[in-house]
Amino acid sequence: MIRFTILKIDILTIFPEFFTEVFDFGIIRRAKLAGIVEINIYDIRSFTTDKHRMTDDRPFGGGDGMVLKAEPIFRAIEQILGTCEREKYADGTKVVLLTPQGRVFKQAMAKEFADETRHIVMICGRYEGVDERVNEMLVTDEFSIGDYVLSGGEPAAIVVTDAIVRLLPNALGSETSAVNDSFTENLLDCPHYTQPRDFRGMLVPDVLLSGNHAEIEKWRKQKALEKTQKIRPELLNKENG
Ligand code: SAM
Repeated sequence: MIRFTILKIDILTIFPEFFTEVFDFGIIRRAKLAGIVEINIYDIRSFTTDKHRMTDDRPFGGGDGMVLKAEPIFRAIEQILGTCEREKYADGTKVVLLTPQGRVFKQAMAKEFADETRHIVMICGRYEGVDERVNEMLVTDEFSIGDYVLSGGEPAAIVVTDAIVRLLPNALGSETSAVNDSFTENLLDCPHYTQPRDFRGMLVPDVLLSGNHAEIEKWRKQKALEKTQKIRPELLNKENG
């Protein structure tokens, strides 16, 4: 699917202040100003209806910690998407739960979302997590940003948003390109150098100063392969890309 419309990203959180200014720099800021992406932050608490405006409660069955309640999240999705029924979401709409139990988020998934999704709602968990009925009824994708446990989904939402937005058409300025980025072709990126040529006796490799573009390309490919082989050999097996 070719993207013709702006990508809308709505983030649900109990800590909206977490996102103050975080999307106001560099590529994401430019993409917002250019009308390539719109990012909205929703306070889950504003969708509560009880006197104490509770967003969490104790888990059934006992045990430590609190669980984010389903009701305000259902209300939020109903307001944002007009429905709480996954089958009725508009084409290209995704509701993502950030969770360590999700599929580990990879560059290929960022690319797929950048190319094919028009509206993403991200739900940030906290405490022990989110009432499972949110997952059962509302969520289309569960994403983890890695095999470790964060205190909340907010940093994960920032990571996923950044990775997707920089792949939107025209989001990257001319000074940078995603084509040779790590993971684009199951390789890590090659090393980069800038001025000065001699820094404390450490010299820039001659080939990069040679002006021979074919040789430079060959060197870069070779270095990318060496680094991938050394640090992330599993990437060289395409299945894992
Ligand atoms: N009890 C949960 C478990 O063990 O699976 C962990 C809950 S964690 C303390 C609180 C919230 O942080 C989660 O609901 C999720 O939204 C977020 N989170 C934690 N680790 C994450 C990860 N690796 N990727 C994405 N979100 C994560």
